[in-house]
Amino acid sequence: MKFHRTAALVASLALAGTASAITIDADYDHASLESFSVAGAGGRPGTTTYVDLVGRDNYYGNGQWRWLNFTASDVLGDNVVFRISDNFAGGGSKLNNHAMVYSYDGVNWDYFDNNQRSNGTYSFSIDGGFTQDEVQVAYAFPYSYGMSVAHTQEVLASPWATPTLSGDANGVIGMSPGGTDDLGRTVDPREIFAYRITDPATDSGRQQKLKVMVMSGLHAGETLGTHTYQGLIDFLISDDPVAAHLRQAAEFIAYPCANPDGRFAGNSRTTVENVGTDPNRLWHPDLYATHQDIRVQAEAMYLDITQTSADLSYFIDFHSTVPTGGDDFGFIPFDQGDHLSPFWQSLLAIQPNIQSSNSTGTSWYTTNHAEAFLGAEVDVTFETQFGFQRPLDYYHDMGRNFGLAFADSLGIPIDLIAGDANSDGVVDLVDLSILAANFDSFGTFEQGDFNVDGVVDLLDLSILAANFQPVSTPEPASFLLGLAALIAGTRQRVC
Ligand SMILES: [Zn+2]
Repeated sequence: MKFHRTAALVASLALAGTASAITIDADYDHASLESFSVAGAGGRPGTTTYVDLVGRDNYYGNGQWRWLNFTASDVLGDNVVFRISDNFAGGGSKLNNHAMVYSYDGVNWDYFDNNQRSNGTYSFSIDGGFTQDEVQVAYAFPYSYGMSVAHTQEVLASPWATPTLSGDANGVIGMSPGGTDDLGRTVDPREIFAYRITDPATDSGRQQKLKVMVMSGLHAGETLGTHTYQGLIDFLISDDPVAAHLRQAAEFIAYPCANPDGRFAGNSRTTVENVGTDPNRLWHPDLYATHQDIRVQAEAMYLDITQTSADLSYFIDFHSTVPTGGDDFGFIPFDQGDHLSPFWQSLLAIQPNIQSSNSTGTSWYTTNHAEAFLGAEVDVTFETQFGFQRPLDYYHDMGRNFGLAFADSLGIPIDLIAGDANSDGVVDLVDLSILAANFDSFGTFEQGDFNVDGVVDLLDLSILAANFQPVSTPEPASFLLGLAALIAGTRQRVC
């Protein structure tokens, strides 16, 4: 049984005489599959069910697909082998050393145990059969449009994020155009978001802040880039004292999902409006004049960058790619010395497996646009790689390392621990005594101002208490004694 370009790619396949019926759904946010067929005596003990998949061939042509995401139901206990053509035209398969992922809850993902290429077919399966009845299967860790919406709301709820000049109260900078996708489905226009992250208390300070612009999600299937982007953003709005220092010295203008239609529709790479055009070749006013999908965010960037007078120091566009022989890398123009910039050098020191690749392309990428029209001094297209079987946390941690690298490049110590005033690696009575000595007065992190708001107060005491590390049994008691003395002292001052 086969489906081809159906409006709703949902089917229930009951095989006569067998105990099992496998259902596959690929008609939801970010899902992608063109068709499938089932063979084998599914569900019978000791037998194998083969599910043959056809990936969607949008943009690349010649049978190429580069995004896969669907949900299979009624798989409990089944020994299922998924098979798909690995036909990537123009050379060897890009599925070398690749591994598909699966999840029972859409949050926790595992790699398939067996990932094999043979005679133009890529097959993947797990040992021992599925342990739940429904499983989500994907090419790499998915990042749906809905996840960007939810994360944007979470970010804007933080005291450190606000909509940009071009955005409304919900951070919406405009609508995508929508359209009809390659499966004939109507894709409705969707909201495009932006936000600015900084410490607003220091906006009117005498010193200009380092200005950074980041974006992700332009190529629809490049989800690891958006996971890395989220890792950076989560760090920037966190209680980490390094982030608190960074927010005072830098401002981040961020665009989480540049291609809502393509991501929602499960496209490999392009937008829905222009399925035949690489959206990362259109970032010039003459080119995007006829491409609403690009124009909305480009024009928002022109306005958003004027909120403060500082020049744009860094522009980073988070992508991901198939393995090209090396590790995660940044396309960065060597001829302008961008690879020698303080941030990039800090990043390489913090995460040494990251590589630099000379960017010489003259197409109208987001980066060349940022350089020519936004005045970016340093521009990077960052490419995380599918294919190393790394856990999802790796990508979030890498995003955090981007934040640490910005802090490091500004001279902010990056090994600060909340509550550790003397930076000896442990939060203890010494730190409490430092805080007590400066309580109820202006101070620095080294004097007990752990949330870096300029004063040493009860908020800092609660941070210290939350991170207090007793080194011996009497210490909690002495901590409480110290705390009592401190609060007694506070009362005296109030009186
Ligand atoms: Zn890309």
